[in-house]
Amino acid sequence: MGLFSWLKKSKEEKKEEQPAPKTEYVSGFTTTTTEHTGYISNDSNSVSVSFSASESTIQTSSRKTSVRILIDNGHGADTMGKRSPDGRLLEYKYAREVARAVVTQLKAHGYNASLLVVEDNDVTIRERVRRVNAACKKVGATNVLLVSVHCNAAGSDGKWHDARGWQACVSLNASVRSMKLAECLADAALKYGLKLRKPTPTQKWWQQNIGICRDTNCPAVLTENLFMDNKDDVAYLLTKEGKQAVVNVHVRGIMDYIG
Ligand SMILES: [Zn+2]
Repeated sequence: MGLFSWLKKSKEEKKEEQPAPKTEYVSGFTTTTTEHTGYISNDSNSVSVSFSASESTIQTSSRKTSVRILIDNGHGADTMGKRSPDGRLLEYKYAREVARAVVTQLKAHGYNASLLVVEDNDVTIRERVRRVNAACKKVGATNVLLVSVHCNAAGSDGKWHDARGWQACVSLNASVRSMKLAECLADAALKYGLKLRKPTPTQKWWQQNIGICRDTNCPAVLTENLFMDNKDDVAYLLTKEGKQAVVNVHVRGIMDYIG
């Protein structure tokens, strides 16, 4: 399938979900890699469909086992520079540790969770999107959810910065379900004592042009688990309790979303 028809199909499938009223994009500290901005340089694929259904249409009764939870661990070992200035935290490694623990704990609670990427090396966003959308095609997009695990960075200069905190991000064309998932994760972050970064006082998640969320057909959220270039955040992330808090946020947030 050509890129255009593939993109068009993706957009059509997105329409089945219920995009929310337009939300103002407020820029903040975001990483500057293609990971978070996608591999298609066209960000005009926001879908404008009138808002008509409510969250209550989401069936929660038997969803515990029917929803396929995919945990993406983002960058691979080949991605350069994604590390704390002191080299103690490597994003690809940390995200893999968290993703594995999240999958293990969700499974222990009886949920259908798996890793999207079992490889250690970089798997392109295109391939990861393909894997997610293959699952969507198989069991239905509303029976799949994706969470991509990352650590944030305020700069790309290899120096320490002041920005800190946890944030959930959805794509510019996010469905109401994606936003709901982001909200559940953000609420869990607050519950586990993490400093939540919000674009406005009332909105708990950010909207950005994120390829892995934009081009996948299911509810999808990217989590930025504190800043790998903030000294205090890194110190906390590397503790046993910090790591466990980050894992708990994902497990709790996903469980609350599914119901
Ligand atoms: Zn990242």
